[in-house]
Amino acid sequence: MKEFYYRRAPDVPGAVALLDADPHARYLAGGTNLVDLMKCGVERPARLVDVRHLPLDRIEPAPDGGLRVGATVTNSDLAAHPDVRSHYPMLTQAVLAGASGQLRNMATVGGNLLQRTRCAYFTDTTKPCNKRTPGSGCPALSGEHHNHAILGASESCVAVHPSDMAVALTALDAVVHYETAHGTGELPLERMYLPVAGTPHRETALPAGALITGVSLPPVPVAARSRYRKVRERASYAFALASVAAAIDIRDGIVRDARLAFGAVASRPWRARAAERALIGAPATAETYAAAAEAELRAARPLPHNGYKVTLVRNLTAAVLSELHEEATR
Ligand SMILES: Cc1cc2nc3c(=O)[nH]c(=O)nc-3n(C[C@H](O)[C@H](O)[C@H](O)COP(=O)(O)OP(=O)(O)OC[C@H]3O[C@@H](n4cnc5c(N)ncnc54)[C@H](O)[C@@H]3O)c2cc1C
Ligand code: SF4
Repeated sequence: MKEFYYRRAPDVPGAVALLDADPHARYLAGGTNLVDLMKCGVERPARLVDVRHLPLDRIEPAPDGGLRVGATVTNSDLAAHPDVRSHYPMLTQAVLAGASGQLRNMATVGGNLLQRTRCAYFTDTTKPCNKRTPGSGCPALSGEHHNHAILGASESCVAVHPSDMAVALTALDAVVHYETAHGTGELPLERMYLPVAGTPHRETALPAGALITGVSLPPVPVAARSRYRKVRERASYAFALASVAAAIDIRDGIVRDARLAFGAVASRPWRARAAERALIGAPATAETYAAAAEAELRAARPLPHNGYKVTLVRNLTAAVLSELHEEATR
């Protein structure tokens, strides 16, 4: 492991000034991803700027009726918050489906959104990888890719984004707030993650040195009845093979509103807009739910060993929508 300097950020302006002054510095939050990547040599920062103790650890009501969540709120505190549990249950379920209790106590909202892919070639520095070393190649294309992307990938990279939380936040139209040495800014989460294209090493549209200060959740009435379902290779402590965040509002037998996002199928959380269009205004039936999943998955381009994900996501979507339907019409 490369030697590095450690500095606890005094405040938000102090944190962004430290990053601005040193392009080889990184923010350290819970450290549950960054420190692992430093140990295996993928990340080699010269300086760590510890932001975990900054006063960004509150969850507060927003003026529009939504919620503002600070970047250093732990995953555990986010999942347990009464307003999150009652207004955005898919978010609580997504966070609790990730990692372990100990990790969730350390991991923060900002760090979770910016965690890196779990592609095994990315973390093995003896192997080429376009994301780690641009232009070196993508061994996953012809190698081990059973948990890689089926949507929106490119010849350059077929890795998936590992966050569960980000899938629910994408379905909920969350907005990310950040600060740099030159001012503040915000980005809808869906636009924060860049399409993979030919530049998989460029993962987000955040400006260099940006400190995520928080995430806002707009009021989303349909999300009061919502669900996050994750399929993984063992019952806990594992990343998703596929996941679905879904919310649905049914009145007079018609789907009036719907939110749908998929996890572990693309380089970023996948907002299933074609499926949402197929749902809204259609009769609330099993046929509609199956057709909605199909509408989204028409764009799927599976690799030789991950075609099962197309069937998995199709069935998962139809099952979660049917469960929400039962709840709504009980
Ligand atoms: C064994 C294991 C199992 C896991 N399982 C899951 C799972 O099933 N689902 C899941 O979603 N996650 C899972 N995780 C990942 C875990 O959730 C992340 O490691 C964690 O959320 C990262 O948060 P952190 O605060 O520790 O980030 P750190 O490791 O401190 O930082 C991660 C990255 O974010 C940057 N960063 C941190 N905070 C900020 C900020 N405020 N502004 C700008 N940049 C910032 C850092 O510079 C770094 O690049 C697992 C992790 C482990 C080790
Ligand atoms: S899929 Fe992406 S992260 Fe994995 S080896 Fe290929 S380029 Fe690297």
